[in-house]
Amino acid sequence: MSKHVTHWIGGKPFAGSSAEQRRADIADPATGIVAGTVDLAGPAEVGAAVEAAREAFPAWRDASLSARASVLFRFRELVDRHSDELARIISAEHGKVVSDAAGEVARGLEVAEFACGIPHLLKGGFSENVSARVDAYSIPQPLGVVAAVTPFNFPAMVPMWMFPVAIACGNTVVLKPSEKDPSAAVRLAELWAEAGLPDGVFNVVHGDRSAVDALLEHRDVKAVSFVGSTPIARYIYATAAANGKRVQALGGAKNHMLVLPDADLEAAADAAVSAGFGSAGERCMAISAVVAAESVADDLLERIRRRVERLRVGPGDDERSEMGPLVTREHRDRVAGYLESGVREGATLAIDGRTHPVLGGGGGGFWLGPSLLDHVSPRMACYTDEIFGPVLSMLRVPDLDAGLELINANPYGNGTAVFTGDGAAARRFQNEVEVGMVGINVPIPVPMAYYSFGGWKDSLFGDSHMHGTEGVHFYTRTKAVTARWRSAAPAGGGAVGGGAS
Ligand code: NAD
Repeated sequence: MSKHVTHWIGGKPFAGSSAEQRRADIADPATGIVAGTVDLAGPAEVGAAVEAAREAFPAWRDASLSARASVLFRFRELVDRHSDELARIISAEHGKVVSDAAGEVARGLEVAEFACGIPHLLKGGFSENVSARVDAYSIPQPLGVVAAVTPFNFPAMVPMWMFPVAIACGNTVVLKPSEKDPSAAVRLAELWAEAGLPDGVFNVVHGDRSAVDALLEHRDVKAVSFVGSTPIARYIYATAAANGKRVQALGGAKNHMLVLPDADLEAAADAAVSAGFGSAGERCMAISAVVAAESVADDLLERIRRRVERLRVGPGDDERSEMGPLVTREHRDRVAGYLESGVREGATLAIDGRTHPVLGGGGGGFWLGPSLLDHVSPRMACYTDEIFGPVLSMLRVPDLDAGLELINANPYGNGTAVFTGDGAAARRFQNEVEVGMVGINVPIPVPMAYYSFGGWKDSLFGDSHMHGTEGVHFYTRTKAVTARWRSAAPAGGGAVGGGAS
């Protein structure tokens, strides 16, 4: 049966108020069949969501810290209890395998757990006697209505990098998830309601650029958190800032994995396959470029090839599948185009995913198996562009110096990893690489919820990373108070309240 996904405003589904509200199709990536439609908000629907959030703000801001934490604990329990259901919702619209989708829910849940500690996280500072009988202190206060705009590739985890912290800090939220896989956001909104979150504290509007622009221009939106591709991140950053809003905008990536001659090549090959092809390469922390020391490159490639031959590609809900389809037909074709352009520009197509078997035959789904282009040079489009699909590019370098130089010359700076048995080399890499998140013998170094997630250079516009203490900082503003209290001394020098006895 075809589903219809609509907005969630003021604690209930909201079918839209515009006379001619647009809709978009939601595809099942494994079959290519249209599985349903989603409403696309315009300024009227966005206005209704912001208004609901604005109305809910004063009471939520004034809710006690323990009351807010109680709601967060209940939300955490509910998401945990429904994690399999959420994973299936994600898999059906995104295409990733269910176990991978469950992993994304678990990582999002860790941020909710972090936010349960909000009473501790919101402690301000206090200095007694900064002058005679004068004390000074600081109070972190919420901002008001905050907007969250998120990408298709983690429809539960990325929104959960943002809203548990924003809500715990006392803000109210309007989330605009990706229109390609919008259902998980609505299910999370239902779970918030079940957890006892007051109506209007968490709202969801679906849509495309028109909805996002309405949020960026709305007077009552105080801050914008964005995750998506670099061109859009740059646009969001500039537009939100021009409209006087606080903004953090995380962009795209080109993540390198440097394999030095003394690396454990079995571990490095495992890492390249799982980090390059997991979730069909549609991860902002996916490994995209394998930078191998010349002396081990051929050996590493053969080990990767052996693993890829065994990799099971198939529908996300088939338990045997290790990698699913890509999210849309256009994206699949764009990614496959890099195999052709790479060869045209002089690379070798060492592993061609177009011929990889698909469990169940694949039907009309958006399939592309794991691929590897070897002898890639930094000028080729397959290297300069973010591919965001199951395509690894292999580049060969003489040593650590050349590897560092290559990685640092790349405009992106999201994640990177070095594989080595040499602690001094690893330490130098960690120190000199110009990338925000670094793995040492760990291919996808996603920070834990109590650290903060974010890249450098063209992978982040703004100066705040997501969740952890940077998240709390982003969603609060500090008020500094200086207070003097004089003892009341009545005329005549008697004690307060004193008088004739
Ligand atoms: P996208 O930039 O196309 O879309 C992201 C969001 O912006 C969506 O909600 C979309 O509806 C909206 N949007 C799209 N075009 C817009 C426009 N012209 N104006 C305003 N809003 C617009 O990204 P995507 O394809 O959904 O996601 C994949 C991208 O996200 C990749 O580049 C990936 O690297 C990046 N990503 C980055 C991180 C990170 O942490 N840095 C994490 C996940 C994904």
